[in-house]
Amino acid sequence: MPKIIHYRNKCIGCGSCFELQPELWRMSKKDGKATLLNSIQKKEVFLLSVSNNFQQQTQDAARACPVKIIKVV
Ligand code: SF4
Repeated sequence: MPKIIHYRNKCIGCGSCFELQPELWRMSKKDGKATLLNSIQKKEVFLLSVSNNFQQQTQDAARACPVKIIKVV
């Protein structure tokens, strides 16, 4: 199962991930950064396992991120 890693503290709030994959991302009204829904925080990163169906879409979101803080492993 692919896992998404989000280095949230480096997010610049551009909104690309949310536009490409609204099922998994929200833009926070508090700090303007993207939030990976249902993820688990481990120190400074947020982790979420997703089904294979989401993998291509998530890779597109990762590629679109201007600061490259979304990883799919
Ligand atoms: S694409 Fe990257 S920088 Fe833009 S909101 Fe999403 S995580 Fe933040």
